[in-house]
Amino acid sequence: MRVAVIGAGAAGLCAAKNVKDLGFQCDVFEMRDTIGGIWVFTEQVGMDAYGYTVHTPMYKELSTNLPKEVMYFTDFPWSVPFPQKNESFITRGDVLDYLNKYADHFNIRPLVKLNCLVRNICPVGDTCWEVTYLYKPTQETITESYNVVMVCNGHYNIPAYPEILFQELFQGEKQHSRDYRHNGSYKGKRVLIIGSGPSGVDLTIQISQVAEYVILSNHSATVAKQTYRENVIKKPDVCRIVDHETVEFADGTTCKCDVILYCTGYQYSFPFLDDSCGVKIENAAVQPLYKHMVHIQRPTMCFIGLPYLVAAFLMFDIQTRYYCKYLEGSFKLPSTQDMLEDTEEEKRWRSEKGIPSNRFHMMGLLEQKYYDNLAEEACIARVPSVVAKIKFATKDRQTEDLKNYRKDRYVVLDDKNFVIYKSYSSR
Ligand code: FAD
Repeated sequence: MRVAVIGAGAAGLCAAKNVKDLGFQCDVFEMRDTIGGIWVFTEQVGMDAYGYTVHTPMYKELSTNLPKEVMYFTDFPWSVPFPQKNESFITRGDVLDYLNKYADHFNIRPLVKLNCLVRNICPVGDTCWEVTYLYKPTQETITESYNVVMVCNGHYNIPAYPEILFQELFQGEKQHSRDYRHNGSYKGKRVLIIGSGPSGVDLTIQISQVAEYVILSNHSATVAKQTYRENVIKKPDVCRIVDHETVEFADGTTCKCDVILYCTGYQYSFPFLDDSCGVKIENAAVQPLYKHMVHIQRPTMCFIGLPYLVAAFLMFDIQTRYYCKYLEGSFKLPSTQDMLEDTEEEKRWRSEKGIPSNRFHMMGLLEQKYYDNLAEEACIARVPSVVAKIKFATKDRQTEDLKNYRKDRYVVLDDKNFVIYKSYSSR
């Protein structure tokens, strides 16, 4: 059995480790010159030295927005590589160190083909996939055959932009959070940040330290409760651009700005999948997939890491363990018809709960249920329920004290088994 893993970020490394454990041959294709995916910081934006998109939205001052206690692979808790590390919120460098140690501990590095950009994948008959890649240093194009393809290419690469009336009138700078690296270039500027997801919130904190003011445009109820510096103005959704520097909001008010920074998320993208793979992106849902991961018509292809608002590393871990159990033959997937119906049923259920159809892969409150479902079907170890508890406690703490929630904190369970954050300095 030959398995191709596309991408050597956290998802790809975890996939490779579990495939290797099965005794299958595994090649991991990575277009960059190093492993770690988005956690590898670079000053570069736009195109790399070979003329390909720089694949990282990582910025200089990023600290994790989740504690490390929910950012690990189950066979490699933080205490293994870093027994002395107590703080919960860590730097991007710490996360990259963790991934490098993971790769070394399980000897995954020799499986990774660096500087290999996968350009085309197509099925050949029912049992084979042809993977064509470009070896960037020599520009050589090579095709190899595999029985299984695990797509782990990440989904923070292609920006998504909202439709705003009369965008063309705006004459200032327009940027997307993918290309934000540090706050230096925002000094003294009037900045409009659109979107209040994790990036929008974090970049508001960082840019407001140097900007004249930051206008944070959002439609989230949580943002209303969060406290920022005095130079942050909260506004509802942008409704139109009025002139070269003026923006109007849904409440009829206007503001002037020099820069618009779109923190409006990303699109799924698989430019290397040939049409014959039969994978489509419909209304931000990758289809036709079973359990958000297994290609229903061709189960020898799977996608690790599509769902969002999750504890990503633990999700990669359980998705990969599930899929490897399937590859090993330990359990059978339902019939094609049943898998299609299961997916349709989930769509119906989400629609009844009022979840917008373009958020099919969003987990959030559904996360634990999703993991339990995978664990049950494949008879594998569950994701501990404390993970969800820690995530909720983190969200509360973030709302309470947005500016400082990461500083000086570590997460523990109290004597009633509640998750709480404690301060080092008050120990
Ligand atoms: P990536 O890390 O994007 O890895 C994909 C890899 O595939 C890349 O190395 C890329 O070069 C490679 N690749 C893509 N296309 C090709 C191709 N055609 N050929 C070859 N190689 C290819 N999660 C947390 O748990 N905690 C956090 O605090 C947190 N903070 C985040 C902050 C930001 C700004 C962002 C964007 C995300 C954050 N996340 C966080 C989520 C984070 O994305 C996941 O934790 C995880 O690291 C993503 O891993 P991945 O392997 O799916 O994707």
